[in-house]
Amino acid sequence: MNILVVNAGSSSIKYQLIDMTTKLPLSSGIVERIGLEKGVIIHKTFLNGEEIKIKETFPIPNHAVGLERVAELLTDKEIGVITDPSEIKAVGHRLVHGGEAFTKTVVITNEVKAKVKELFPLAPLHNPANLTGVEVAEQVFPNATQIGVFDTAFHQTMPEVAYRYAIPKTLYNEMGIRKYGFHGTSHKYVSEKAIEYLGKQDAKVITIHLGNGASMAAVDGGVCIDTTMGLGPLCGLIMGTRSGDIDPSIIFYLVEQKGYSIEKVSNILNKESGMEGLTGDTDMRDVEDRFHKGDAEAVLAYKMYAYRIKQYIGNYAAAMNGLDAIVFTAGIGENDTVARKLVCDNMDYLGIELDEEKNNIRSKNIREINRANARTKVLVIPTNEELEIARQAFELIK
Ligand code: AMP
Repeated sequence: MNILVVNAGSSSIKYQLIDMTTKLPLSSGIVERIGLEKGVIIHKTFLNGEEIKIKETFPIPNHAVGLERVAELLTDKEIGVITDPSEIKAVGHRLVHGGEAFTKTVVITNEVKAKVKELFPLAPLHNPANLTGVEVAEQVFPNATQIGVFDTAFHQTMPEVAYRYAIPKTLYNEMGIRKYGFHGTSHKYVSEKAIEYLGKQDAKVITIHLGNGASMAAVDGGVCIDTTMGLGPLCGLIMGTRSGDIDPSIIFYLVEQKGYSIEKVSNILNKESGMEGLTGDTDMRDVEDRFHKGDAEAVLAYKMYAYRIKQYIGNYAAAMNGLDAIVFTAGIGENDTVARKLVCDNMDYLGIELDEEKNNIRSKNIREINRANARTKVLVIPTNEELEIARQAFELIK
C-alpha cells in the first residue's frame, strides 16, 4: 500500500510517497515559491536502486496547481512510480497545532477541519497553510482517506504541573495559553526506537531534536512528560534563527526603549536570533567551520548552544527522577560531532560519558556513542517524520 505524506507550508509543499511494504519512499520532492512569479518543483524518484531527479520551473499560482503537477509526475509514463492516483490509499498530512483538541492521529472530517480552523490563532503561520494542503489533496486525490498527524499530539500527555504557566488562570481557561510543544512526531518516533533498542519499556529517555528548529522531550516509559517548546516554537533551545528561552523583560525593554512594534520584536526573536544572531550564520555547518578555526563568536555560540541543552538534560533527569538514555536526532543531532561532544562533556554525574571515537563515526544507522560501561546510553537515532506520519496513517486505515 502507498501512502502520500504532505507537509504544506504557506508557499511550499513537501511530499513523499511511501511504500508501506518496504517502508521506503518511492518518490519525494518539494514544490516551492507557490504564488510567486516563478514556482519550482524538485521531484525525485527511487526505483530499482536508482535515483532520478528533475527540476521544473513554471508559474505555480496556488497549492492546487502545485499538487496537481505532483500527481502528474507520480503517474508520468516515463518517470512515474504509480499508474493512477487512486493507487494512493491515504494522504497523511503534517498538521502543526492540534491544541488540546487532538491527542492522536485522526481521519480528517469536516468537523476536524473546523477545529483546525478554530486553532488558527495558536499557529497563524502554519495551520492555515496545513489546512490548504488538506483541501487541495481532497480535490487531487479524491479516493484517498485524508489523515491528520499533529505535531503537538505526542506532548498532550504532559501533566498540568508541566504545561501550565504561572499567569492568571483565566488566560488558560479562556484562551488556552499553556505549553503545547512541537516536533512531536519526531520525539515519538525516536523515543520508540530508543525503547526498542534498550529493550526496556519503562526506560527514562531524553530526546534531543536538533534541526533548524530544535526541542527536547522527557519521555518516561514512552509517555511524554515535558518538552522545551511552549505555546509556540520560540522557546527552549537556541536554534538557527530563534532565540529559545529569554527573559520576557527583554521584549518590554525593546518596546519601551526603542519603540519597536510587536511585529519587529517578533521578527528579531524568530528570524534574527539564535545562531544567526550570535554569529551571523544560520547553518550549523558554517558555524562549525568557524569553530574549528577558533573563531571567538562561533566558539561562544557553540558553548551557549550546548550549555542550554545540558541544562535541560539536568532538568528532565530531575523531572523523571532518573535517566537511561539521551537521544540525538535531526540534522545537527545526527551529524554534528562537535555539538554532541560539547553537550556530553562533564556530565558524568548523570552517567553520561561519550566515547569520542564512536562519536566521530558517520553512519545513517541507530548507534550508541557512550563509553562501554557508562551508566547512561548516548544514542544517535536518525529521525524520519515522514515515515512516522505514513505509519500512523496506515494504522488508521488498514
Ligand atoms: P534539519 O532541520 O533536521 O534538516 O537540520 C538542519 C540543520 O542541520 C542545519 O543547521 C544544518 O547545518 C545541520 N546539519 C546538517 N548536516 C550537518 C553536518 N554534517 N554537520 C553539522 N550540521 C549539519
